[in-house]
Amino acid sequence: MNAPLRVIIIGGVAGGMSAAARLRRLNERAHITVLERGEHVSFANCGLPYHLSDAIPDRDRLLLHTPDSLHRRFRIDVRTRHEVTAIDRQAHTVTVTDHRSADVLTLPYDKLILSPGAAPVIPPLPGTHHAFPLRTVPDLERLKAAATDRGPHAVVIGAGFIGIEVAENLREAGKQVTVVEAAPQVLPPLDPELAALIQHELQRHGVTVITGVGFTEITERSVTLADGRTLPADLTVLAVGVRPEDSLARQAGLETGERGGILVNEQLQTSDPDIYAVGDAALVRDALGHTSFVPLAWGANRQGRLAADHLTGRDVRFGGHPATAIAKVFGLTAASTGLNEKQVRALGLTPAVIHTHPGSHAGYYPGAEPLHLKLVFDPGTGRLYGAQAVGGQGTDKRIDVLATALHAGLTAEDLADLPLAYAPPYSSAKDPVNLLGYVAQNVMDGTTRTLQWHEVAGTDRLVLDVRDPGEHARGAIPGAVNIPLNDLRARQAELHGRSVLVYCQVGQRGHTATRLLTELGVDAVNLDGGYLTWQAGQTASVRHPALQA
Ligand SMILES: Cc1cc2nc3c(=O)[nH]c(=O)nc-3n(C[C@H](O)[C@H](O)[C@H](O)COP(=O)(O)OP(=O)(O)OC[C@H]3O[C@@H](n4cnc5c(N)ncnc54)[C@H](O)[C@@H]3O)c2cc1C
Repeated sequence: MNAPLRVIIIGGVAGGMSAAARLRRLNERAHITVLERGEHVSFANCGLPYHLSDAIPDRDRLLLHTPDSLHRRFRIDVRTRHEVTAIDRQAHTVTVTDHRSADVLTLPYDKLILSPGAAPVIPPLPGTHHAFPLRTVPDLERLKAAATDRGPHAVVIGAGFIGIEVAENLREAGKQVTVVEAAPQVLPPLDPELAALIQHELQRHGVTVITGVGFTEITERSVTLADGRTLPADLTVLAVGVRPEDSLARQAGLETGERGGILVNEQLQTSDPDIYAVGDAALVRDALGHTSFVPLAWGANRQGRLAADHLTGRDVRFGGHPATAIAKVFGLTAASTGLNEKQVRALGLTPAVIHTHPGSHAGYYPGAEPLHLKLVFDPGTGRLYGAQAVGGQGTDKRIDVLATALHAGLTAEDLADLPLAYAPPYSSAKDPVNLLGYVAQNVMDGTTRTLQWHEVAGTDRLVLDVRDPGEHARGAIPGAVNIPLNDLRARQAELHGRSVLVYCQVGQRGHTATRLLTELGVDAVNLDGGYLTWQAGQTASVRHPALQA
């Protein structure tokens, strides 16, 4: 009988523990050792922000396993407070410091799996040691204690998904919260006109949002901004992003990306075939096949399982990660998959873009909530680049359908063909995802020509509001002429042969009006997403990427 396989896994949380458990299920004889620098393994890092508000009141619910429970169930040798400091690829050993005893050990491996995660970015500015990070359970305990013991003012620096979740939960815990973001918008995975909806939701719940300005100094009780303002801060949370934890890999001479991160093949092997890398530390392929850093839990869990599969002789392939992400922001959900318009344009591509604002389910059934969807795709082939969604109930479902479509290589037009479940409490007979497909078909075959919200300011077309007079009176694009859709045939002479930009509230009546005018021989284009998208674009304190050149 062959000697048992010796597998060492570095990092005992998402990717590492997925690999360890799968490996045991596939190979009862392997010696599996998990080395974890921190005090806990297998904890729910994604749940950490929710203990701040007591949405998850019991902190122990975040601890999914202990070394003991893992040993009892899986016979895995789990060692916490064990930090790997070096890998010797020739000798097939790792050097480990046991922080409890200060002993330094050398452990042999046949196969090594790296899942060391990501490290927080700490800008080289004075006072960052006063700020709280949120990566681990001890971080959570310190932050929760400070939130309980200190005064009311909390500043969260960084408005990415984690920063926003922390801000929400500190606000729910009764704090006066200010979010500071150096970028011109919150939630950078969204384009500005959708991020504006999230910023509004934060403000509506009493969170102060400051964008477009960085910080210069943190003290124990304040944060100073680059524009000279000083904010009172009884506690400051720093969440300005993470970078792949690739230091061990680099020391060991494994190939890394230009901007960090461990390079792996589709089987998750590094440049050394006996060493795998999974999770945040490993680079993945994005929706366009480019190498990308995607620090999200799905990839870590999937890759951990696949690495264990491959290591035990199975034929596997990791197909990439379109960075599908979602967050709760008070009463709204913000979600995205694939690339946003900013990213697509930064690659030198000119995408087609659709905004829609359907209800979450049939309007005649009580409780429907608005959804705001954006689809970004190639105007010639219909290849999907990405999608974004902001709204109430059903937002998660739509982004997951769109992520599935992206993964399956469906085109924008294919979305019309998806046979999705329908009953009035859940959807409409034309699901919002189907509607994106209908609009895409119209845009791609030229049935409707559209202008985007950021193109309105530069147009010399007559701007025609086809909503009812009451809607027009409540707010309209400056200079717009109001002819309601139902009056358009009778009043067509008023257009005097002008080229027209039509708009309504969300783009649907505008589409009908545009078709009618086109049939009547008028040069008409529709404002994509209607007044709602235009209005969100006005409140976005950022110039659209298409206008930045
Ligand atoms: C507050 C928070 C909220 C999040 N929310 C979400 C969410 O809602 N959705 C989502 O998709 N993702 C979320 N994430 C991201 C998600 O948790 C990560 O993508 C995922 O945990 C990555 O798994 P990993 O195995 O690569 O790294 P981790 O789970 O971070 O595990 C890495 C472990 O390796 C250990 N380690 C590092 N170096 C060494 C060493 N030299 N020796 C020994 N041990 C070492 C670290 O101590 C760490 O415990 C969140 C993250 C945080 C911090």
